[in-house]
Amino acid sequence: MPAFPEAAARATRDATLRANLRHATHTIRDKRARTVAELADWEQLRAAGKAIKDHTLRRLDHYLLQVEQAVTAAGGTVHWAADAEEANRIVTGLVRATGEREVVKVKSMATQEIGLNEALAAEGITAYETDLAELIVQLGDDRPSHILVPAIHRNRGEIRRIFAERMAAWGRPAPEGLTDAPAELAEAARLHLREKFLRAEVAVSGANFIVAETGTLVVVESEGNGRMCLTLPRTLISVVGIEKVVPTWRDLEVFLQLLPRSSTAERMNPYTSLWTGTTAGDGPSAFHLVLLDNGRTAALADEVGRQALRCIRCSACLNVCPVYERAGGHAYGSVYPGPIGAILTPQLRGTAGTVEASLPFASSLCGACYEVCPVAIDIPEVLVHLREQVARRPGHRLERAAVAAAGYVLDRPALLAAAERALARSRRLHPRRLPGPGRAWTDTRDLPQVPAEPFRDWWRRNRA
Ligand code: SF4
Repeated sequence: MPAFPEAAARATRDATLRANLRHATHTIRDKRARTVAELADWEQLRAAGKAIKDHTLRRLDHYLLQVEQAVTAAGGTVHWAADAEEANRIVTGLVRATGEREVVKVKSMATQEIGLNEALAAEGITAYETDLAELIVQLGDDRPSHILVPAIHRNRGEIRRIFAERMAAWGRPAPEGLTDAPAELAEAARLHLREKFLRAEVAVSGANFIVAETGTLVVVESEGNGRMCLTLPRTLISVVGIEKVVPTWRDLEVFLQLLPRSSTAERMNPYTSLWTGTTAGDGPSAFHLVLLDNGRTAALADEVGRQALRCIRCSACLNVCPVYERAGGHAYGSVYPGPIGAILTPQLRGTAGTVEASLPFASSLCGACYEVCPVAIDIPEVLVHLREQVARRPGHRLERAAVAAAGYVLDRPALLAAAERALARSRRLHPRRLPGPGRAWTDTRDLPQVPAEPFRDWWRRNRA
């Protein structure tokens, strides 16, 4: 993947993509605003969500052990994965042990993050995505571009073409004469997926939350595909980030109000599936929970950046972001696009890579993401913090020198006044664009014009 500026420049040249994104993000954000406005205590709920997550993250070691104990006591098996490679090895081994060559999947960001489908494919195991949007992405040999609506960059006509051309290669073909009517597209997907649900012996899921006190996992969804995957197969494997824990059922209540309104703008999501270990004669007879770190404890160690781990993946920040609306999700080069991706990916993967180093700058710092975030993550604060980290790396000597020089002058009032006067006198000689590495910055901006007289001189003359 190229760094964000190049990827975004390419994406913004695609008029269809921009139209699809604009239509979808505006529709969801307007609906969300109306649904949130119905609750008089939204700000209190938001504060409660933040407080619960902060408390849990501070005592994560305790709550994770509680989860392990409760899941084990309920008949499940807990596996600990330090990174993507270990998680993929565990899941692949578990699937192979069942003797099956295919799995059905509930939409899961964690499994995308670790590249599980590719790891399974390398072992000859086919993973079938069962969420409608994920199905569109998988059939189109595409990548997700939104946390909640992975195929947000596709319109109905494009989806019809993908179904008509690609469904047959993955199972039941699309019906003859399929049109782009939403009901027809949904029916085609339903028929295609139904045979997979009925045949599958193994399912792989993530989870929105884990309730530590009972070891209960929670999946919140809208299509019922999750319910099918979580109940029909004999073996269920759930890969969940360690930050998904909430201590009690009372805490869960807060998030079950925050999440649907922030994500799909629903008062209550259609399907909330909860399961605790295994139950004889009811649902999967084997349950494995893979607890995934993959950079999370490193993020937790960062006092400013750790707030990103409060994220409940509602995607509200994506839908209000002016940068995401124009560039789309692919430009972020990660499964986590938009404002949350710009702060989460560099923390999970480090800032050494070109893509990761570019992400903290993929923002205008307008603050809209913070205002809508249901767990009050101050995304602009983390962005600036990460920019500092990037600027400390090799290759940023000029920026550091410029900031050090500015700091020196701003610290000395007499020197600052002299510098202002010198700048005012030489204003006609100032270039319109910065030279050297600063040139790109002025490609799209005018350098501010220096006034003919510094403000402090004007003040002294007029108000002294
Ligand atoms: S950062 Fe906040 S608004 Fe964005 S996805 Fe996470 S919880 Fe939702």
